[in-house]
Amino acid sequence: MAEQSVVIAGGGIGGLALGIALRRGGIPVTVIERTAALRDAGAGLVLYPNALHALAEIDTSLASAVRAAGHVPEADEVRPIVNTRGVVVTTDRVGELARKFGAPQVSLLRTALQSLLLRYACEAGVRMRRGTSVTGCTDLGDRVEVGLSDGNTTTAAALIGADGLHSVVRRYLLGVEPPRYCGYTTLRGRSPAPALFPHGFIVTADGIGVFAAPTGSGRLYWTAKVAAPAGVWPAKSPEEAWADLLTLLSGWHPALVDVVRCTDPDAPVVVTDINDREPVADWSRGRVSLLGDAAHPMSPGAGQGAGMALEDAAVLGGLLSRTANIPDALRSYVRHRAPRTAVVVNQSRHRDHVVRDERGEFSTHDTELTDLFGWRADFGQATE
Ligand SMILES: Cc1cc2nc3c(=O)[nH]c(=O)nc-3n(C[C@H](O)[C@H](O)[C@H](O)COP(=O)(O)OP(=O)(O)OC[C@H]3O[C@@H](n4cnc5c(N)ncnc54)[C@H](O)[C@@H]3O)c2cc1C
Repeated sequence: MAEQSVVIAGGGIGGLALGIALRRGGIPVTVIERTAALRDAGAGLVLYPNALHALAEIDTSLASAVRAAGHVPEADEVRPIVNTRGVVVTTDRVGELARKFGAPQVSLLRTALQSLLLRYACEAGVRMRRGTSVTGCTDLGDRVEVGLSDGNTTTAAALIGADGLHSVVRRYLLGVEPPRYCGYTTLRGRSPAPALFPHGFIVTADGIGVFAAPTGSGRLYWTAKVAAPAGVWPAKSPEEAWADLLTLLSGWHPALVDVVRCTDPDAPVVVTDINDREPVADWSRGRVSLLGDAAHPMSPGAGQGAGMALEDAAVLGGLLSRTANIPDALRSYVRHRAPRTAVVVNQSRHRDHVVRDERGEFSTHDTELTDLFGWRADFGQATE
């Protein structure tokens, strides 16, 4: 069914997951990715049970491989929520999630997740075109013409923009609108796990928070959130940003500071200003749609951006695999996904207060958020 082929702009977490889901439905897929090689886009991330359900809907062996590539908490494992003196204020019972929601949370390096998705995509027969950007598109009614940075065009039955926060495909669908700066930057790195907090920790203080989670083999990744005007921290070199962060942490318990101090020298600190966008009710038109951050970028407040991209991929993959009517499938996809992702964008925003009390960071005690975890992607079940 060559006329039903799909082009995906962007080979990040969402684009690759959709590629795998579509191949499962027998659909020819080309992923066009701007970068020439896999990029190390930040240290690590946590996938919550809903993300694991979505992965399993796409490919059960991929979900198993993701678990094996990261850290799955033991049933009684907790992540301490500590103050800057290292005193445990409360604990986040991360190990309980598997029993409650039928899948665990998994914390892992981004490169581990990206490499697995890439391997599964290639094995499934996804055509990868790297080092090329999508520059625009024209909906010709019965197909879409996709413009490429090498000056060529390609045509497909559908174009899905999984091209992230500054999506070119979004610009085509929804116009030019800058994202909204959330008021803080993030620094990310990886380190050996400290003996005192082998399963990571969460700590918030005045204008700064640090989250650390294990990635397996005695190691962890950390993310620091720092309230700051836009552009200030990304303008620094990684070394300068790391040194300035250590200055901000002076006086904190040594075990907490050491996690940042002992950052792998061969994996430079990644600095990212955090932006999101107001949720929109529709992000499809004709044969063109969006997925993941291109559709609903959110702050990391709820730790759900990648989770939502994986859920999108499971639902859209199911719908496109079962219908020849692409515009209908894309409309149905948005009907399924827009309400849920709008809730998550808003909940993430709600948790963006870097300056909060010592229990202010996201924890899995937070019932508003844990309500999200049991969601199943209904791959192949979502109706048109
Ligand atoms: C500090 C921080 C912590 C986070 N923690 C978590 C967490 O714990 N759990 C979680 O679920 N999520 C987390 N997230 C969110 C998560 O990283 C994103 O939501 C997720 O990466 C979105 O995936 P995506 O595929 O939509 O976009 P991306 O991962 O941004 O991928 C987009 C891809 O498109 C490519 N591209 C861009 N433009 C073009 C173009 N014109 N043509 C072709 N290719 C293009 C890019 O090179 C990139 O590979 C966090 C984010 C941040 C910043």
